[in-house]
Amino acid sequence: MLDSLQQKDKYEAVIGLEVHVQLSTKSKAFCYDSAQYGSLPNHNISPVSLGLPGALPRANQEIVKYAVKLGLAIGSTINKYNFFDRKNYFYADLPKGYQITQDNQPICLGGSVKVRLANGVEKQVILNRIHIEEDAGKSIHDVDDKYSLIDLNRAGVALLEVVTEPVIESGEEAAAYLTELRKLVRYLNICDGNMDEGSMRCDANVSIRLKGDKNLGNRCEVKNLNSIKNVQRAIEHEITRQIELSEAGVYIDQNTLNFDALTGITSVLRSKEMANDYRYFPEPDLLPLNLSDAYIEAIKKDMPALPEELFKQFTTQFKLPEYDALVLTADKDMADYFLAITSSVNNYKAASNWLMGTIRSYLNENNIGFNQFPIPAQQIAALINKVEARELNNNQAKEKVFAALLIHPTKNLNDILSELNVSINTNTAHIDGFILAALNKYPDKVKEYNSGKKGVLGLFMGELMKISGGKIDPKKANQLLINQLEKLK
Ligand code: ADP
Ligand code: MG
Repeated sequence: MLDSLQQKDKYEAVIGLEVHVQLSTKSKAFCYDSAQYGSLPNHNISPVSLGLPGALPRANQEIVKYAVKLGLAIGSTINKYNFFDRKNYFYADLPKGYQITQDNQPICLGGSVKVRLANGVEKQVILNRIHIEEDAGKSIHDVDDKYSLIDLNRAGVALLEVVTEPVIESGEEAAAYLTELRKLVRYLNICDGNMDEGSMRCDANVSIRLKGDKNLGNRCEVKNLNSIKNVQRAIEHEITRQIELSEAGVYIDQNTLNFDALTGITSVLRSKEMANDYRYFPEPDLLPLNLSDAYIEAIKKDMPALPEELFKQFTTQFKLPEYDALVLTADKDMADYFLAITSSVNNYKAASNWLMGTIRSYLNENNIGFNQFPIPAQQIAALINKVEARELNNNQAKEKVFAALLIHPTKNLNDILSELNVSINTNTAHIDGFILAALNKYPDKVKEYNSGKKGVLGLFMGELMKISGGKIDPKKANQLLINQLEKLK
């Protein structure tokens, strides 16, 4: 362990992330095979993905569109003339002996992703590029004692590799960046963003240097990170390890590392000497892509509203607190649901409270997403409006009516309210009767109130709720209660 914080303070970390985003296209990048996840092993294959002699690739138009979408979303320059390259290496799960990728002219250049850190600081993570490539198959080493198994379903599935500049400074920043990137690909509907299924894979390049030093230190690249949390853990571990080495006067080798999620420790997978020489050259079997301005414009027109834009709308037009806007826009389905409610309510904060509270708890308890939430937005909107109009109180709405709606999501709300008998008693004389009953039950507390202890109001309100079966408007009842108590003085 580090002797002192001071030692650690001398250094700063420099991190660059390479993220593989698996595109949710129906077919693979360069052939018609299904790109479906979870099929039986070696069922989504064909001569092209097996790399059989004479088989020719053909670019899937969708992957180009998806790449441009992501590029536009993060403000990249779309590289209108771009082409594919071969990256040559030998591995059993790469039957062709090369991967089709983009090296020399990637489809998107630059751009940035805005992240918010826990201390409230906002930062733009600058990107280097986005390029299109195909995935390799999967080698499985832990099923059989003697043999490694190969599943080529994934061979040829389309990926975007999103590469940052070395500008990230901590594990937390890396995690915030990945969270934003995942949000974006989900909003754009180009990838499901599930890191545990390998739909988003991240390699973290980590180096350290003395503060103020302009040169980059030797980096280590950590592979096999299957969750955002593990990316953060691996980076934090790596920073500490490198500082310790440096403090001990040990040279930091440029290695490729593996991260063990159980122990939280990195170990050397291969050294620089073992690195491949990929001998990139332009892919001769595919034409270069020549994207027209009209093509890019058409994609731009078709883009959904992105989280940042919705965040602005939610905080300005709907005047929501930033916290609410962040939570609501974290998930596109949630943001869409909120927008659907706002078209028919005036109390936007109430709508936000419903989504962030009652509804989200229900979804979490049942481990489902907003896309599986059974109650139509219009029903929740109508319920919010009834509470606004003081036809029923919030507790009844949240407990009884919500539960009833879960069972009969589209049933007429008025029918539900009358069946549940939860409509509020607006008759002042009735409420005064309840109040009198409550005051008679606790004469001592009335005295306490008269001697200045306003805290007993809570007790009386609780009693009133009990007596009325919750069917009163707390605000109105509270006022009537105070009136009566003041009269008794
Ligand atoms: P390669 O193609 O060999 O993997 P790149 O130059 O494309 O290397 O960089 C890959 C990633 O590593 C990028 O995200 C880049 O920002 C990052 N990176 C490069 N040098 C460093 C460094 N010294 N420290 C941390 N990250 C680095
Ligand atoms: Mg790399």
